[in-house]
Amino acid sequence: MRKFKALSRREFVKQSSLAGLTAAIAAGVPQTIMASGITMAQKPAILGGKPAWDSVKWPKWPVWNPETDEKQLLEVIRSGVWSRAGVVTQFEKEWAAAVGAKRCLSVVNGTNALVVALNQLNVRGGDEVIVPPYTFISTVSSILSNGAMPVFVDVDPATFQMDPSKIEAKITPRTKAIMVVHILGLPSDMDAIMAIAKKHKLLVVEDACQAHLAEVNKQKVGTIGDAGCFSFQNSKNLPIGEGGAIVSDNDQFMDRCFSYSNLGTPYGTAAGVVGAGSIMQNTKVRFTEYQAAIGIAQLKRLDAETTTRNVNAEFLKSQIKDIPGILPYKMYKNVTRGAFHLFAFRYEKSAFKDLPRAGFLKAMRAEGVPCSSGYIPLNTQPFLKDTFESINYRKMYPKEMLDINIYNEKNKCPLNDKLCAEEAVWFTQNMLLGTKDDMASIAGAIEKVHKNAEKIKKLDY
Ligand SMILES: *Cc1c(COP(=O)(O)O)cnc(C)c1O
Repeated sequence: MRKFKALSRREFVKQSSLAGLTAAIAAGVPQTIMASGITMAQKPAILGGKPAWDSVKWPKWPVWNPETDEKQLLEVIRSGVWSRAGVVTQFEKEWAAAVGAKRCLSVVNGTNALVVALNQLNVRGGDEVIVPPYTFISTVSSILSNGAMPVFVDVDPATFQMDPSKIEAKITPRTKAIMVVHILGLPSDMDAIMAIAKKHKLLVVEDACQAHLAEVNKQKVGTIGDAGCFSFQNSKNLPIGEGGAIVSDNDQFMDRCFSYSNLGTPYGTAAGVVGAGSIMQNTKVRFTEYQAAIGIAQLKRLDAETTTRNVNAEFLKSQIKDIPGILPYKMYKNVTRGAFHLFAFRYEKSAFKDLPRAGFLKAMRAEGVPCSSGYIPLNTQPFLKDTFESINYRKMYPKEMLDINIYNEKNKCPLNDKLCAEEAVWFTQNMLLGTKDDMASIAGAIEKVHKNAEKIKKLDY
């Protein structure tokens, strides 16, 4: 169990120097006014005041309960059967059922889930894959690993997701697939994206590595496109240390993924005689029994945790949305559940007396609220030039396609540049497992920084 104690209402009152606050609480004044009333009266921690919150008290991650979580894991360890066997199969069945997919294949991590899925959808050298620039490196490197060319589509800063209205302009005769990323654990606009894919006969791969149990129209993300990929890395909402999975309803595709990820040995409809050797080009990225045992234990709490994150995210959003210069994430109308791997908002410094985001983040951390500025734009990182200069790429593509200056010109994403460089602010998912008072104190900290922005700006960053 996490060691965590929320600041009680009485302690809130005790800390306050405002007269009449007790009466206000008794009268049922909303918590946002309460929190801000208290914190506004105080000096910001960055200027020597008392922090709004004590950072060591945020919910610990990953959650682990020896009493409920260790039985199967110990059985696996003591059995000596550690390579892929029955427990991995059990985990795959449970994950498929959790997301409503016919099949699931576990692999070593989310990165390789993407690599294997693209490979078995036959994405290869010469193909283009449409992708957002606002994501984790693996989304793009999985495309390059298969010899294909990432084509970047700018984000809608309001939702942080790839803007579907900008996809069609990027489609060429080489376009083979759209890689959707449900970034922050919030679903992308799948209705719009699936319609475009259908119209242009494109494959859709969902990078759902941050979006466990998120839903569009009551359907779990990862099951809407041709393949869905998940990560179980330690920071993710279902943590196993490392781990990943591919889900799909297409038996033939899943059999081929299984075979490819297991040294090319025959599996299901991936025809061949078992024991007669490898039937296809292959790799080996198998999950282990002890990873599966940890996954099965973690899966038991995922649904309840997801509900808590949704409730707290909605509450926190309601508490901060009226603070000038704070623009919380928007969700598309068809979203029926978020996963909230991250809670994000845009910070507008003009409403904070031009205090740069770095100063805002520093002041928030001083208040005891961990936060970060999030991603850097992937479409301008040096790994692209490096890949284009490789022998393989030079053999696969015409020279013009590998000219980094032409490429950069075609792949500009100005809205994403601004989001990354100036605006985005993140809180991590474990913070959303805290109490309502925790959420109110985050809001209080933001208001405190807002009220004191002029003074905070005078410090060095
Ligand atoms: C974490 C993540 C991945 C990669 O998963 P790993 O398990 O860390 O390899 C891919 N895409 C996104 C969006 C992620 O957040």
